[in-house]
Amino acid sequence: MKISKEFSLKKFNTFNVSETAKFIYEVDEISELKGILSDIEDQILILGGGSNILFTKRFEGTIVNLKNKGINIIREDKNSILVEVCAGENWNDFVIWAVENNYGGIENLSLIPGNVGAAPIQNIGAYGVELKDVFYSCLGIKLNSLEEFEMKKSECKFSYRNSIFKTELKDKVVITSIKLNLTKEKHNFNIAYKELKENLSNSELSLKVISDEVIKIRQSKLPDHELFGNCGSFFKNPIISLSKLKKIKKVYPDLPSFRFDSNNYKIPAAWLIEKSGYKERVNKNVSVYKNQPLVIINRGSATGREILDFANDIKNTIYNNFNIQLEEEVLII
Ligand SMILES: Cc1cc2nc3c(=O)[nH]c(=O)nc-3n(C[C@H](O)[C@H](O)[C@H](O)COP(=O)(O)OP(=O)(O)OC[C@H]3O[C@@H](n4cnc5c(N)ncnc54)[C@H](O)[C@@H]3O)c2cc1C
Repeated sequence: MKISKEFSLKKFNTFNVSETAKFIYEVDEISELKGILSDIEDQILILGGGSNILFTKRFEGTIVNLKNKGINIIREDKNSILVEVCAGENWNDFVIWAVENNYGGIENLSLIPGNVGAAPIQNIGAYGVELKDVFYSCLGIKLNSLEEFEMKKSECKFSYRNSIFKTELKDKVVITSIKLNLTKEKHNFNIAYKELKENLSNSELSLKVISDEVIKIRQSKLPDHELFGNCGSFFKNPIISLSKLKKIKKVYPDLPSFRFDSNNYKIPAAWLIEKSGYKERVNKNVSVYKNQPLVIINRGSATGREILDFANDIKNTIYNNFNIQLEEEVLII
């Protein structure tokens, strides 16, 4: 365990903003966690890799950063494994481990930054796959009672970039590990996503082939956060009713839409942002990324406040232009 006071969060957030926290505990051993949590009197923020958080001010509380490591296969049969992964593992390192060992189900989620413990929070998803597709349960501790729990998939209320941990249990639990069901044979390769289908329809599929292709596409579209601080998609793709879609399409017939459920359609927020002229609006410190306008980037020394103001400007413009309310994917502190 390591405790630091008046800590700079610059290396702890992929937006690379220079805010501070009153205290940060870096915790390697889960056996120490209950003791630490019971000692903390002020507000607690559980932090993973900081790739989905925008700090807009000093955090006047205590940050707990889990660094516990370990991957254990807890059950195995001919076709599948149940694996438990510690929250402090890097997500992409775990994906690499799975692909190298021919365990399938998360290859489409290659190269998503952050830690394993944060993966259930927004039910991470990419290229047609979401965490919930392989999720079995998560283990953790309730921050108020320090009670340990295991929550099964059905209790986690997963939906598009959402879960119980972003709603009823927001700031109420720390996840210490997750359990996933992965395939050993007869993998369900998913190349339904347009670019994967285009690029791989003539290839012999394997976990590695899909993972490599996902990495290639992601690297061509998303900025390296070491160069341009960012948190990936800043907003969720809005989901709107068919009647609203029809109304907007009368004015913008080229608006792309994807069926979400029987009466609702998902709209690419990137299209709305590009159509509103944000690719051309480059402020000194903040802009959208040229290859993917849903990604807001820190062009060097932006403050969290500047990034938030820019995001709010986008939100207001999209509302005025399309009568669509964008919702942040990123947690704002
Ligand atoms: C370039 C880039 C691309 C991205 N692409 C994608 C993508 O394709 N799909 C996608 O879904 N996301 C994507 N993201 C967002 C981000 O990587 C994920 O949301 C990731 O799961 C965040 O992990 P983290 O450890 O960095 O979480 P943090 O940013 O540290 O925390 C995020 C939230 O989770 C909570 N939290 C973190 N760890 C725990 C824990 N152990 N217990 C309880 N609560 C916890 C935090 O309090 C916070 O509310 C991208 C981000 C970047 C920078």
